[in-house]
Amino acid sequence: MVISWNSVMRTFSISIDDGYPYDLTLGENLRKMGLISTFYIPKWNRENRPVLSFSDIRELNSMGHHIGSHTYSHRYLTSVDGTTARREIVDGNNYIQDVVGKKVTSFCFPGGKYNSNILKFVEQMGFDFVRTIHNFNVVKREDFLVKTAFQLYPHSKTTLIKNFVSQKFMVDPSIVKFRFCCDFTPNHAMVSNLPQSDAHLHFWMHSWEICEQSIDYMGFFNQIQDYGWINKPLENFITSPVKTAKDIF
Ligand SMILES: [Zn+2]
Repeated sequence: MVISWNSVMRTFSISIDDGYPYDLTLGENLRKMGLISTFYIPKWNRENRPVLSFSDIRELNSMGHHIGSHTYSHRYLTSVDGTTARREIVDGNNYIQDVVGKKVTSFCFPGGKYNSNILKFVEQMGFDFVRTIHNFNVVKREDFLVKTAFQLYPHSKTTLIKNFVSQKFMVDPSIVKFRFCCDFTPNHAMVSNLPQSDAHLHFWMHSWEICEQSIDYMGFFNQIQDYGWINKPLENFITSPVKTAKDIF
């Protein structure tokens, strides 16, 4: 069943973290579906997962996808001293800038870990926005700190509840209900309940988890689109970001 609401603009975006080699296939599949994503990629991953090469990332970029910075070696920035954290951010950014041949517009914290000093530093770096792993939120056009709807991963209900309870920011109840009840199979009632006007949802994932868990991301994005949601990368949606470090800490 295809339902669309022409009177409201509801958009969604996608990001894929860590530059795992399957990202290339995922990127190609998304492109064939007419979907553009942002890939957050470090130079290498100290967790011993392989990472796409320089030329692979270029190929992903040439498909039309955006490439964002994800530190140099995927260090959790709150686990190292300030000098190391800043070096990780700068070196990772320089690397992606070399790959894409232009300014890198966005950054993503490995493991979602950050504090006030790290946030201030990435603001000073001149990124347009940073993507977090805060869940159950809509994205606003003025967001610098981008919160997500949820991760495409089949978390247990217990994990989802823990995740819900630990949220630092106010959540959107309709997205909580959607995630707890839909299991990546949206239905009319749940989708109708989501924010209606100028709303933007962001979904993120790891491509190795897509493989390991056999997550039907194509089915999910097809259904989201059938219900009238339009793909719009974060780079095109966020138009007037406001720096937020001083307001959060
Ligand atoms: Zn990561």
